[in-house]
Amino acid sequence: MTPINSFPAQTVEEIVTRAGRPDFDRWAEQVARCGHCSHPVRLRGRVQHRAVTGQRMTYSTDGEPDRVLLIRCGNRRAAVCPSCSYEYAGDMWQLLYAGAAGGRKGVPESIRSHPLVFATLTAPGFGPVHTTRGDRSGPARCRPTKGKPRLCQHGRPTWCTTIHDEDDSRLGQPICSDCYDYPGHIAFNWHAPELWRRFTIAVRRALAHITGLTAAEFGRRCRVSFVKVAEFQRRGVVHFHALIRLDAPDEDYQPPQISVDAADLARAIRQAAAHVRLTVEMPDGSGLVLRFGDQLDTQTVNSGPTGQLTPEHAARYIAKYATKSAEDFGLGDRRITPEALPHLDVNDHVNRLVRTAWQLGEHGAYEGLRRWVHMIGFRGHFASKSRRYSTTLGAIRGERRAYRQRQAAEHARELLPDEQDTTLVVSRWEFAGVGYLTNGDTALALSAAARAREQRQAARDAA
Ligand SMILES: [Zn+2]
Ligand SMILES: [Zn+2]
Ligand SMILES: [Zn+2]
Repeated sequence: MTPINSFPAQTVEEIVTRAGRPDFDRWAEQVARCGHCSHPVRLRGRVQHRAVTGQRMTYSTDGEPDRVLLIRCGNRRAAVCPSCSYEYAGDMWQLLYAGAAGGRKGVPESIRSHPLVFATLTAPGFGPVHTTRGDRSGPARCRPTKGKPRLCQHGRPTWCTTIHDEDDSRLGQPICSDCYDYPGHIAFNWHAPELWRRFTIAVRRALAHITGLTAAEFGRRCRVSFVKVAEFQRRGVVHFHALIRLDAPDEDYQPPQISVDAADLARAIRQAAAHVRLTVEMPDGSGLVLRFGDQLDTQTVNSGPTGQLTPEHAARYIAKYATKSAEDFGLGDRRITPEALPHLDVNDHVNRLVRTAWQLGEHGAYEGLRRWVHMIGFRGHFASKSRRYSTTLGAIRGERRAYRQRQAAEHARELLPDEQDTTLVVSRWEFAGVGYLTNGDTALALSAAARAREQRQAARDAA
């Protein structure tokens, strides 16, 4: 926790003022109630209840500190709000786990017997970058020379003998940025959603081929369901982690009506990923052929013998990526304007990616790209799924929203004079703003969040 004497005088003043107010405990309670969210939404409004006797009772934020109620911002990015991103990852895990293991969210437990594969599809190389790698004896040199050391056409080394630390800022940056294929890199991010779509079609075709069925016959007996998460690698290119499962085509999560196992599915995924291609137009009129990288990983998921990837592991692993984003590159989560372009505080590699994306955006085939420059050209969803994979994030959120509204209503009722059964009659809310009112409030909320984390950790340690 930051010592109070390191804050500016005004912040200290704000802290003292807040802590000295008679409604401080109530304010602290609200901060805790919204999970110590970093930028809570401030709502103003009232809820009206009617008792069975017909008597009307009202809860209003007029009686709250600053006349507002604080609710979570709901941002999934850990860099924006640690608390809400943690909650988002939890929701993702629920969704992923339901589809992998069943027994919850309307998915039957028998889903465990369906062929299920955890797959990672990477991007190809656009030029050598600094990297960490390991061999049997531990961390190894970045890019050792093979044979006689050779300079690139720009007179720079093509090798790097450093053993990089995990936090080395050179990681993910090209060995020679002039050799690096920036347009190809941006084209991959921009077209990655279409490449994924073609991949899912290719998986169906490969499975039909493996089972000796026509595409139409296969479609009548089997459906490929999936959930995928896009993750940015250090070099700024997306790759996909996915859980891919086979079901019957109906709506009730029955097993596929063909004889295939998870190993067949893994084989179909490998074939499809290796063969799928997308030819795109580049500004100079040439055609660029996009494909997935050679680094492809498929693991069959099953809840059988130990040592295997279980549904729980796979769900946890993917959910972890759901909170990462391009923000890790220092680009923020808003559109980049032409005015902001020259003043970005990012490294040379990200700077060149941004500039390349901006230039490509001028070209007809890349219309709309300029709106996605802050995402290094990736316009897809960070997490998406086929229709029948499991429940939706919206449904999980809805459950919780309903839960929160109940909580808010209950809370409002506590403040009312009567314990009688009441009916919610009117609920009116208006938006009052985002974030804490002062830097002092933010500092207090952050230190309360840190204390809450320590308490949770202590409880875990004691257990
Ligand atoms: Zn938040
Ligand atoms: Zn290196
Ligand atoms: Zn070079």
